[in-house]
Amino acid sequence: MKNKEWLCQLSKLTSLPYYEECRIFGNKSGALIATRDGYIVGIGLGKAPGGHAAVKMLLRYAKAQDPQQIKQALDPAKGKFKLVTDPTTAALVRTYSFAKPDAATVADQSRELLAALKTSAVAINRKCEECGKADTEMVLLNDLPAYYCSSCQIQLKQKLDAAAIEYENLETNLPLGLLYGMGAALLGSIAWGGVAYLLHRIFLWGAIIIGLFVAKAVVKGIGKVTWSAKVMIGLLTAASVAFGDAIFYTLSVMNQSQVAFMRALKVVLATFWRLETDADGGLVSILFALIGAGIVMYRTRKPAFKARFLALGTPATTLSRVASLPGR
Ligand SMILES: [Zn+2]
Repeated sequence: MKNKEWLCQLSKLTSLPYYEECRIFGNKSGALIATRDGYIVGIGLGKAPGGHAAVKMLLRYAKAQDPQQIKQALDPAKGKFKLVTDPTTAALVRTYSFAKPDAATVADQSRELLAALKTSAVAINRKCEECGKADTEMVLLNDLPAYYCSSCQIQLKQKLDAAAIEYENLETNLPLGLLYGMGAALLGSIAWGGVAYLLHRIFLWGAIIIGLFVAKAVVKGIGKVTWSAKVMIGLLTAASVAFGDAIFYTLSVMNQSQVAFMRALKVVLATFWRLETDADGGLVSILFALIGAGIVMYRTRKPAFKARFLALGTPATTLSRVASLPGR
């Protein structure tokens, strides 16, 4: 069954209005959104973490002290859904492989969950979730259906704009980043070369750890991830693994030819590029280290300081009802 058809059917079964344009679950088929007994209910189709097709459900309530208690209350009613709760929202995900789950089953499930929610969470009751102002309109706040009065919308936008400016103005300390980064890179090299020499093998996940370590050190020193931080992280990470390989070759030369460290290192560095590109895994380990560095850069990237408020629009189900009224 097509997504829209399935959602229409579910809309009839639950009498939740169907908004074709609201992509609260990221899927272009839209979602069912409504307030039931003072709680916000949203159901739609989307992707589970990992990309699996899934039916998704949101239940939203007034800010709760103990989301774990709400989870416990909802657990017996969740059926095949996976459930996560935070202070204002219970998010439910049910994956499926071929056919979508029966719409009637999902409709029953949503009713059971709502009944369980009533025993454990306080309803929002159309009050602004920020200041408690009564008779507020439901809006989409960054694609999350929420009750936010107009003055709180303005305040949140201003707050986030201020936070964005503050982030832009954050002091950065490049020399400290370089110092921390070089220290981390050198430690990484010694560990990498030492382990390779002692155990006679390399571990690619070790390279990832070096990338993580160097990137964390640079970010800690600089204070935030800027373009210069990214370049510094990339170069120092690659250098750390490459120099680690050099240490490994040097230790091997020292052992074979009974020469001092510096002399062996000189010999190795003279032919380093050939050694590195000839050896198994030389460049691959650098690549893995950069993956590790990339993970840190992604995790510490600039936060999204944006509050986008959207009206819900008109649900498709009401439109068709209006269209089918006699005399129209
Ligand atoms: Zn408000």
